[in-house]
Amino acid sequence: MSFRNAGAIFNDPSGHAFLFRKIVGTMYELDLKPPAMSAFSACSHNRPTDLATWHRRLGHVGMGSIKTLLSKHLIDGLDVMSKKIAGMCEDCILANRHAAPLTRS
Ligand SMILES: [Zn+2]
Repeated sequence: MSFRNAGAIFNDPSGHAFLFRKIVGTMYELDLKPPAMSAFSACSHNRPTDLATWHRRLGHVGMGSIKTLLSKHLIDGLDVMSKKIAGMCEDCILANRHAAPLTRS
């Protein structure tokens, strides 16, 4: 960024100026707008996935709770491509282990 009398010039890493903003009082005024939702980002959030992925996304909630959410249509966009469960979640197994196994002395 470089400064001129009337404002500031923003440069990319190669030094090419890509934005000029005038100074207003003691501040440089930026008129930033939130990025528009693109088709690519919207698509990535609406892709149906399996129960195990939803289990992780929802903070390792129980599978029964997810099935209840699905059956009662309580969450928009909760699309599951398969209700088949392949094994138990390793993180939940480790989190529910409260004590180290006993050892014989
Ligand atoms: Zn889990």
